[in-house]
Amino acid sequence: MGMKKAKRQRRKLLYILVGILTALLCALFLLVFFTNRANVLQDEEPQDPGRVYAVVNNELGSAGGIEIIHAYIPWDSPRRPGEVREIRYITIHETDNRSRGSDAEAHSRYLLNDANDSTSWHYTVDDGHIYHHLPDNEIAWNAGDQRTKYGGNINGIGIEMCVNIDGDYDQTLRNTAALTAALLDNYGMTMDDVRFHSDFMHKVCPHRLITEGRTGEFLHMIEEDLLEIQAAKAAPAEGEGE
Ligand SMILES: [Zn+2]
Repeated sequence: MGMKKAKRQRRKLLYILVGILTALLCALFLLVFFTNRANVLQDEEPQDPGRVYAVVNNELGSAGGIEIIHAYIPWDSPRRPGEVREIRYITIHETDNRSRGSDAEAHSRYLLNDANDSTSWHYTVDDGHIYHHLPDNEIAWNAGDQRTKYGGNINGIGIEMCVNIDGDYDQTLRNTAALTAALLDNYGMTMDDVRFHSDFMHKVCPHRLITEGRTGEFLHMIEEDLLEIQAAKAAPAEGEGE
């Protein structure tokens, strides 16, 4: 009888251990899930429910003195869901692609020709070029928050900054700031509407900007450019006034 009893006891112990392990794994899963959710849902409810957002694509010709090259992703690409939405944010990313030649033109070519993936965004900026891949009022899959109603995918204009080693990163920052300011002005948005990809999901993006501690500096650049645009609009036209 001793052998059988010991065997049964061992099995009981095993069940208890498996039970404890399963409970721990569940707890860990829930913890990770809700920490992620908490972040993703930060834009779930609009702060100003009465605010009217732009829904039309008002194509900019240039930003910061750089001509914007419009090269829209074709309709039949999975990268272009073609759904019109409200424009609530501008979301800043980095390509994380440091290889030589991975500039805005290369990313445009990639988006136009590679239809194996649905990832997409609206602009890519490098140290001398701005490429426009999708109309500003269309959904693009760039924020990693699925279809969160007031989230980044559904409501953001996604801008990717190039980090190729043969590019001038500081100039890319200046060009992106100029584009962001022009878009804010174009769609009646404010500095409060600027987001980093990391605001919508647990991902360190824009990676270099965040790891080098330059997000504050970058936001300040956008603000300066926006003030400049607004001041130019408010100033009397040439030949008028004093
Ligand atoms: Zn990103």
